[in-house]
Amino acid sequence: MRTVAVVGASLAGLRSVEELRSQGFDGRIAVLGEEPYMPYDRPPLSKAYLQGTCTPESLSLADNSDLEELAAEWHLGVRAESLDLAAKSIRLSSGEEIAADGIVIATGGRARALPGSEGLSGVHTVRTLDDAAALRTDLENSSVGVVVIGAGWIGAEVASTCHALGRPVTVVEASPTPLARVLGPTMGGICAALHTDHGVALRTGVGVQSLTSGGFGPWKRVSGVDLADGTHLPADVVVVGIGMVPNTEWLAGSGLNTDNGVLCDAGCVTENPAVVAVGDVARYQSPDGPTRHEHWTNASEQPAAAVRNLLAGTTIEEYRPSGYFWSNQYGTRLQVVGHPQDADEVVVVDGSPDDRVFAAEFRRQGEPVGVFAMNNPKLFGRLRRQVRARVASV
Ligand SMILES: Cc1cc2nc3c(=O)[nH]c(=O)nc-3n(C[C@H](O)[C@H](O)[C@H](O)COP(=O)(O)OP(=O)(O)OC[C@H]3O[C@@H](n4cnc5c(N)ncnc54)[C@H](O)[C@@H]3O)c2cc1C
Repeated sequence: MRTVAVVGASLAGLRSVEELRSQGFDGRIAVLGEEPYMPYDRPPLSKAYLQGTCTPESLSLADNSDLEELAAEWHLGVRAESLDLAAKSIRLSSGEEIAADGIVIATGGRARALPGSEGLSGVHTVRTLDDAAALRTDLENSSVGVVVIGAGWIGAEVASTCHALGRPVTVVEASPTPLARVLGPTMGGICAALHTDHGVALRTGVGVQSLTSGGFGPWKRVSGVDLADGTHLPADVVVVGIGMVPNTEWLAGSGLNTDNGVLCDAGCVTENPAVVAVGDVARYQSPDGPTRHEHWTNASEQPAAAVRNLLAGTTIEEYRPSGYFWSNQYGTRLQVVGHPQDADEVVVVDGSPDDRVFAAEFRRQGEPVGVFAMNNPKLFGRLRRQVRARVASV
């Protein structure tokens, strides 16, 4: 293998380059990234960066000397438009073609848009640095209030940051309990209470009917949110946090299988052994079936196995996720490990949910399979090791 193209210049793309070099690949590496920036960290976009307590420079995922050592070519501000596997070539939005005999797909995802909100100023999603910068500017001028649509991780973090900035916030969530899909209804309910603890209004079990607006043409701006139950929520800033869509459109016609991500085997290898997928876009074969994770640790860890398999030309290592992720909301540290399922028993093993300081285990047939902790990092670390040891032994 002489040239590897890494498509997507973010966390999973950077880690793939690092893995290629640390696993001994000394050929050409071309990294193709649609954003005009070197890899940066997204978690602070909804937290410290939005709040104005960190600079864009501090988001950088690698310093110059690390990057120099990697000796990769960075083609930034260009989109991969298509992939021709027979010709082993990627066509870019600049018109250029990049030939590569190995390909790492690390194109992540984009924020899902709320239908009908296109072109309406004051309506935001938060996926990129530019998104967060635009929201930050709008928040500075906001006088009416903020409505956050969706109480998932990113919606909840944005609500918490807007609250910290002194903006009146209402969170709207269509499901009866936020985060229940990830943490089950009990723990999801405790997370939801963080909003109301801090005086942030939370409307659950009700969908959004439409956005209202005022002004005309380029001055048309959101003025509020109409809910399905007839309530009108006035707002001059609306943040839509209703999930993400994997960036796979550029693979249409390539012959690769895409369905809610790039389908690959347990080692992140697609049906073509010269192509692997990593990070938020990769839908790999886990023991629970095709699985895609949207978390920092996954994007950081997955490239090790994927690159090993790419360089070997076949799957020699399966990806074993640690299943760890975190969130910070209202000064509260939330940490999760494992992949809890609805039927798991949830047992608080330390502290008290009422105090918002506790740790809970998810148990399956009596065995711990996951941990959720609030403001309890020390115990979380210990329980996390136990869960990891158990998962590794299965
Ligand atoms: C606001 C926010 C807060 C978060 N907070 C947390 C947190 O607290 N904890 C946690 O565990 N996780 C968090 N995450 C999730 C974490 O940041 C992601 O899991 C991680 O960024 C995924 O990395 P990735 O490289 O797979 O994809 P991405 O970061 O999405 O990067 C993909 C890159 O590929 C580029 N690209 C897409 N299509 C093309 C194309 N055709 N050609 C060229 N380039 C392309 C994109 O522009 C992008 O730069 C957060 C995410 C966001 C957005």
